[in-house]
Amino acid sequence: MKVSSNFEGGRIEVQELGAHGATLTIPHDVGAQRFRQWFAFDVSGQAGSSFELFIQNAHECTWGDAFGGAYKVFASDGQAWRRLDSSLVGGKLLIRGTHAERRLRLCYYPPYPAERLSALRRRTRLSGGTVRLLGRTPAGRAIECLQLGKQDRPVWVIAQQHPGEAMAGWFVEGLVEFLTGGGAAARALLESVGFAIIPRMNPDGAAIGNHRTTPQGLDLNRKWAHESAPIEVSVTRAAMIESGARFFLDVHGDERLPWVFAQPPDGLPPVEVRNQVDAFQAEMLLLTPDYQTKHRYPYDSRVTPSLAFATNWVHHQFGIPSLTLELPFSDHLGRPDPRGFFPARARRLGARVARGLGVVLMPTR
Ligand SMILES: [Zn+2]
Repeated sequence: MKVSSNFEGGRIEVQELGAHGATLTIPHDVGAQRFRQWFAFDVSGQAGSSFELFIQNAHECTWGDAFGGAYKVFASDGQAWRRLDSSLVGGKLLIRGTHAERRLRLCYYPPYPAERLSALRRRTRLSGGTVRLLGRTPAGRAIECLQLGKQDRPVWVIAQQHPGEAMAGWFVEGLVEFLTGGGAAARALLESVGFAIIPRMNPDGAAIGNHRTTPQGLDLNRKWAHESAPIEVSVTRAAMIESGARFFLDVHGDERLPWVFAQPPDGLPPVEVRNQVDAFQAEMLLLTPDYQTKHRYPYDSRVTPSLAFATNWVHHQFGIPSLTLELPFSDHLGRPDPRGFFPARARRLGARVARGLGVVLMPTR
């Protein structure tokens, strides 16, 4: 069999290759040895024959235990994504599959494709919105913001500060599809509330197959307080200060927790902000079983917020509802599915969140 990671976002190291299997390792993020989680590679062999792969350093990854439990490896032969039989065996990730007619792509989570991002830009423009270039990354890639509706205190949504959390890209697609779909609810929403959406905060990290950081080893969601923040953060901060903001969502993926959840900023926001967040959460519970409010990170209202985190910085700056939205790599156990939390599910959630924000933020309420 053959194993290759020679494509954008591809990442694996081959240790040993046999006729029906391979021993592999996951390399650390370029620029940051402490992060090691992302993999994406192609396998090919005789169609119909089975193969067995061992990722032998799974237990040495940043969230090594997260490869077990409800998590299963994703695979696609160019059609839909499905999940392979995979499990943790003695600290190694064992993956079993069958070769397809064409190469089979295996990955930690399906990357959000560049051609779909182009389609989102087109949709945005066709529906009267603007694609604004905020700046360029150190490698020269565009940091773009999709603007829909009035840009006076819009809802700000950012995704993929952590490049391996690709479900955030699929989520944004659903959100933008809803807003540009021409439905009555979306039209009414955009008449009163604008949206400013950054689908990919860390395009350089995504392109090289980093899980957590930029190629310079920077975790963008720890850099919001810094005067000389990385360009990806500094241009976003500047654009937010210029437009103002009325609601903020920072979309992430969580390796371990098998739940969709929203994490509030640290500290205790004023009561009117908490009421708005409560209203949003209540609406989401009505809109989809792919949302819940019981499971989240530990939260202590007495903690002094670190402004290095996006949601804390935004809440400090604007005094508005500011949430980290976490989507699982494995599954949302509120509605377990053999396909886990697959891309179309992240997309559907994006549309539901747009609807939920509409109910909470529309002045007619
Ligand atoms: Zn994250």
